[in-house]
Amino acid sequence: MADTVDSDAIARNVETVFENIRRAAQRAGRPADSIRLVAVTKSVSVDRIRVAIAAGVSILGESRLQEAVPKQTAVGPRGDLAWHFIGRLQRRKVKAVVGRFQMIHSLDSVELAAEIDRRAGEAGLCQPVLLEVNIGGEPSKAGFLPSAVPDALAALDGMPNLSVRGLMAIPPPASEPEAARPYLRRVSELARSVARPGFRRIRMDHLSMGMSQDYEIAVEEGATMVRVGTAIFGVRPAPVAT
Ligand SMILES: *Cc1c(COP(=O)(O)O)cnc(C)c1O
Repeated sequence: MADTVDSDAIARNVETVFENIRRAAQRAGRPADSIRLVAVTKSVSVDRIRVAIAAGVSILGESRLQEAVPKQTAVGPRGDLAWHFIGRLQRRKVKAVVGRFQMIHSLDSVELAAEIDRRAGEAGLCQPVLLEVNIGGEPSKAGFLPSAVPDALAALDGMPNLSVRGLMAIPPPASEPEAARPYLRRVSELARSVARPGFRRIRMDHLSMGMSQDYEIAVEEGATMVRVGTAIFGVRPAPVAT
C-alpha cells in the first residue's frame, strides 16, 4: 500500500475537499448539503481509511469487489457509513455486490441491469444504481452512449428490484480541469432531458461526476456526488494489469 500522505495530511485534505465543495456550491447557488463526498479508497489501507472516516467521510468508493470485502470486514458495519461500488462490474460478481454496496455507480449495460435485478430479487432487496454514461463517446470507456440512455431507462424502469437514481460519468482525460466542463454540463443536461414523469421507479436525483482534478467544476455543473481519491489520500501506485 502506498503511504505517500501521512495521517495528519489525510485529515487536512478531507477538510479542504469539504471546504472546496462548499465554496463551489455557493458559487453555483446550490445548498452545500446537496453534494455528497465519496472518498475513493482503492489501494488505500484500512488504517488510512479510518483516518478519513474520523475526519468526517461517510461514503467510501471502491472499484474492485475483492479489494473492498476485507476492508468492509475490517471497518465493520456502521449505520453512518456507506460503501459505493464505482468500478467496472462483471456479471459473475453481481451476486456478491448486490446488497453489499448502498449504490452501484457503474451500471453500463441492460444485461448487467437484468442480472442485478435478478440477484437483488433473490436477496429480497432493491438495489440503488446509477447509469454510467460514456459522455465523451470514447471507444475505450464503459457506459451507455448518451443517445442510448432513453431506451436503456425505458427497459430499466420495468425492473422491480432496481432503483435507478441518476447518472454517473467520467469525462475524457484532460491536462486542464476546465476542459471537463462542457462534458460535465452535458451530463446534467442529459439527466434533465431523459427524466420522464411517466417513469414508475426511475428517479434522476443524483449525478455522480467529478474526481480530484475537476470536482469543483462538477459541483458548479450540478454534481450531487463527487468521487475523490488522490486529493485525499495522495497518488496511488500504478494499477497492476489484470
Ligand atoms: C479512481 C477513481 C476515482 C478517483 O479518482 P481521483 O482522480 O484519484 O480522485 C473516481 N471515480 C472512479 C470511477 C475511479 O475509478
